[in-house]
Amino acid sequence: MNSVTLTRQTEDFSVFDIDRVRADFPILQLKVNGKPLIYLDNAASCQMPQPVIDRLVRYQTTQHANINRAVHYLSEVATMEYDSARRKLQQFVNAREDREIIFTSGTTDSINLVMHGYGRKFIKTGDEIILTTLEHHSNIVPWQMLAKEKGAIIRVVPINDQGELDIDEYEKLFNERTKFVGLIHVSNALGTINPIQRMIKFAHRFSVPVLIDGAQAAPHMALDVQALDCDFYVFSAHKLCGPTGVGILYGKATLLEAMQPFKGGGDMITSVTFEETIYNTIPHKFEAGTPPIAAAIGFGAAIDYLTNIGLDHIAAYEQTLLEYATATLSEIPGLRIIGTAAEKTAVISFILDGIHPHDIGTILNQDGIAVRTGHHCAQPVMQRFKVPATSRASFAFYNRKTEIDALAAGIRTVQKVFL
Ligand code: PLP
Repeated sequence: MNSVTLTRQTEDFSVFDIDRVRADFPILQLKVNGKPLIYLDNAASCQMPQPVIDRLVRYQTTQHANINRAVHYLSEVATMEYDSARRKLQQFVNAREDREIIFTSGTTDSINLVMHGYGRKFIKTGDEIILTTLEHHSNIVPWQMLAKEKGAIIRVVPINDQGELDIDEYEKLFNERTKFVGLIHVSNALGTINPIQRMIKFAHRFSVPVLIDGAQAAPHMALDVQALDCDFYVFSAHKLCGPTGVGILYGKATLLEAMQPFKGGGDMITSVTFEETIYNTIPHKFEAGTPPIAAAIGFGAAIDYLTNIGLDHIAAYEQTLLEYATATLSEIPGLRIIGTAAEKTAVISFILDGIHPHDIGTILNQDGIAVRTGHHCAQPVMQRFKVPATSRASFAFYNRKTEIDALAAGIRTVQKVFL
C-alpha cells in the first residue's frame, strides 16, 4: 500500500508533511562519511520510496514470468500487471489511448526510437531539424547521427543570459524545409522551464512534429500531452522515484503507426517467414524482445506514489525550496548562479570564483552532501556561459530547507579550504 503523505486534502502546500515523506525513503537514513546524507542530485536520479521497493519485491517473489507468451498463471499475472503499468502511465500523461505509451529503457532510448522510427523514414536530404541550446546530449547526438546519414541540417535555438530560449529566433528558424523539432521541456543543467505549449503550436502551423524531452519535467509538474498537443513526449522512471532501465515514449497513435520499427525481434511481429514479416500493432511494434517487466511494474508503483502526493503539491513545495536556495546561495560572496530564468524548477547550477566544480563536489561529499559537478550532458549550455562545468544542486520533494542551509555552510567551507 502507498503510505499517506498528506495530512489532509488541500491545495495548501504548507500541509506537505515532509517528515512523513522522508520516512518513505530508507536511503535518506544513510550516513555518508559519518554525516547524514544530504542528497541533492535528484536531477540525475531520484531516490526510491518503500512502496516502490515493496512492489518490486512483491513482483519478484510472487508474480514474475515472461509476458505475452504463455497461458500459465504467472505469465497471465505478469502480463496483466505490465499492461496495468502502461495504463497508469497513460493516465499520468493523459494520453488518449494506452497503445500510445511505449515502454523503452529510458529517455535516451525513447529519443533514439523516434530518430530511427520516424527520422530515418521521413527526414530527407536538405530537411531541417530544430533543436535548442538547452538540449541534453541525448536529444542532440541521435539527430546529428541522422543529419549525417541523410544530409539533413540542424538549426539551433539560442538562449539569453538568463538561460531562457529566444522564442523570436525559434520562430524565425521555420521554413518549408523544417521537418522536425526536438525540444527539452525543462533544462537539466539550468532548470529553465520552456514555453513548450506555445512552441508546439507554432511548429504545428508548419505541420512539423515536435518531440518533447520531458526527463526533467515529468517529476516536477502535472502533465497533459493532449493539452500540450505534443507529438512525442519522453521520460525515464528513475527520475520519478522508479527503477532504472525503463522509461516511456508517448506518441500520437497516427504517428506511431506510420513509423518503422526500431528494433526487430520477438513480440513486435504478428507473423514471420523468410519471405516476409508482418509487424505487430502499436505498442508491441516498438517493444521487441522481453521488455523490462519488473521495472515497468515498479514504474507504475512510482506513478501511484507520486500521484498520491499530487504533482501540484510537489511543484508548489519544490518552488519554496528553489526560492529559499536561490536567496541563501546568492548571499555567498564569489558564488554565481548560472541559469536565472523567470520560470525554473528547483535546480541551482553555480560556479565559485577560483574553485573548480570537481573540488567543490569532493569537499561537499566529505560532509555527506551529494551534488553533481560537470557539464551535465549539456555541453552547449556550458559553452554558451563560457564555463567548462558547474556544480548543480537539484532538489526533490523530500529535501528540506535545513539541507539547503547545510549546503550553504558546506560551500563556505570549500571557500575556506581553497581560497
Ligand atoms: N534528457 C534530460 C533532460 C535529462 O536530464 C536526462 C538525464 O539526465 C536525459 C535526457 C537522459 O535520460 P536517461 O539517461 O535516463 O536516458
